[in-house]
Amino acid sequence: MDKTKKVPVAEQDPHERATNFKEVCLGYTYEEAVAEASRCLDCKNARCIKGCPVAINIPAFIQQILNNDIEKAAQIIGESSCLPAVCGRVCPQESQCEGVCVRGIKGEAVSIGKLERFVADWAREHKVTPKVTAEPKNQKVAVIGSGPAGLACAGDLAKLGYEVTIFEALHEPGGVLMYGIPEFRLPKDGVVLPEIENVLKLGVKIETNVVIGKTFTIDDLFDEEGFDAVFIGSGAGLPMFMGIPGENANGVFSANEYLTRSNLMKAFRDDYYTPITRGKKICVVGGGNVAMDAARTALRLGAQVHVIYRRSEAELPARVEEVHHAKEEGVIFDVLTNPTEILSDEKGWVKGIKVIRMELGEPDDSGRRRPVPIEGSEYIIDCDTVIMSLGTSPNPLISSTTKGLDINKRRCIVADEQVGKTSREGVFAGGDAVTGAATVILAMGAGRAGARGIDEYLTAKRQAGTVNAN
Ligand SMILES: Cc1cc2nc3c(=O)[nH]c(=O)nc-3n(C[C@H](O)[C@H](O)[C@H](O)COP(=O)(O)OP(=O)(O)OC[C@H]3O[C@@H](n4cnc5c(N)ncnc54)[C@H](O)[C@@H]3O)c2cc1C
Ligand code: SF4
Repeated sequence: MDKTKKVPVAEQDPHERATNFKEVCLGYTYEEAVAEASRCLDCKNARCIKGCPVAINIPAFIQQILNNDIEKAAQIIGESSCLPAVCGRVCPQESQCEGVCVRGIKGEAVSIGKLERFVADWAREHKVTPKVTAEPKNQKVAVIGSGPAGLACAGDLAKLGYEVTIFEALHEPGGVLMYGIPEFRLPKDGVVLPEIENVLKLGVKIETNVVIGKTFTIDDLFDEEGFDAVFIGSGAGLPMFMGIPGENANGVFSANEYLTRSNLMKAFRDDYYTPITRGKKICVVGGGNVAMDAARTALRLGAQVHVIYRRSEAELPARVEEVHHAKEEGVIFDVLTNPTEILSDEKGWVKGIKVIRMELGEPDDSGRRRPVPIEGSEYIIDCDTVIMSLGTSPNPLISSTTKGLDINKRRCIVADEQVGKTSREGVFAGGDAVTGAATVILAMGAGRAGARGIDEYLTAKRQAGTVNAN
């Protein structure tokens, strides 16, 4: 075996998978996982642990794969992560644990993500579930939002013995894991829901269809519902648009709406009646992971798909793996191209998109070279649907209905990084609601930090004999 190279992982054939929603990556078999685990050098000062935002003891769990004790491997991961099967599939490992792996210095890094996925899938199939051992604390915590931040916070607090209720605006828990990331990257019934179930098995309660800021305010949670602390993990689900002429035409969607219809409301399945456009030619504007997900979904629904991105391929913010998969499946990339207008027919339906060619100028504030339009280079791409994927920001509903809760100029809640403390007593926050759109693992890390902050806060209150002093 060539130890400088990763053990390859099986994937569905690109031509076949471009027409179905089954998972692209098929994961390691036991033999493959053991072979890949044997590449780990079990470093004393393991850099991979520092590269992991939730500091999973990576060499320890990998060694347990070699010891053939997968249950122990799952327990080690479970000490730091409540969503290992999710993270093994969607974390940007190349810029985190694998990005600093010592094996990567003279070859390819250990395939840490695929090993994590192997262990988590094994644990699910063998029904290994987490346990609560702490004494009940008799204090109630409300968690707003059931995405990775809310789930991680709720799970950690339940393990400490707090009574936790998650309030979720949508009819299904999971946040972006359920409504954003498509089935072909992250299966819902097989992977996401069982990991949410594991959090609920810790004693966490969840109430769906409850919009905080409408159904209840945060003040109501303290004053009328008797909660002692609140964690806000409401994400960043408000889509941005370009503000170009024609953006209100029929057939222009935000990636969020398009993906929610397909993922959460199951429009991709023949047995659901959720309407979704199955355009002939779709242009997706943007170059991040969300744009890749929208493009690959549209492709599977039968369209020819163009991704329009204003910088060059080297600057595409999406994961390299996602871009590679999208290209393999037949998505066409129009880079150094920017929309200037959306054109519609006499009935107001999209018939094309006017774009201009760009070139790269001097670096901007982000350090990336600024895209500059090339005068007179405009042309039209005929299409019947446009999906805007330009980023998202936090919804202002909670901040506008909660007195004393500070937000910054990007409308993100201001919260301490170490423990999630906000400007409002007893209110903690973390995840995309605080950072703006980021990643699953960073949101989980922030949820865990919030749980630590809430535990410190409520422990102090217990010791002082004051409960729910809001
Ligand atoms: C399409 C897409 C693909 C992505 N791909 C990746 C990827 O491959 N890898 C990766 O690491 N990250 C990816 N991300 C980013 C990642 O999913 C997010 O950073 C992460 O989910 C943020 O977690 P969160 O818990 O902060 O928020 P969310 O996951 O957004 O969850 C917030 C929850 O709060 C609920 N909520 C909002 N307001 C209220 C309210 N007022 N009352 C009650 N509930 C409320 C929402 O309905 C939602 O369920 C992707 C994001 C998208 C949109
Ligand atoms: S840095 Fe790489 S080789 Fe070293 S312990 Fe971590 S995974 Fe193993």
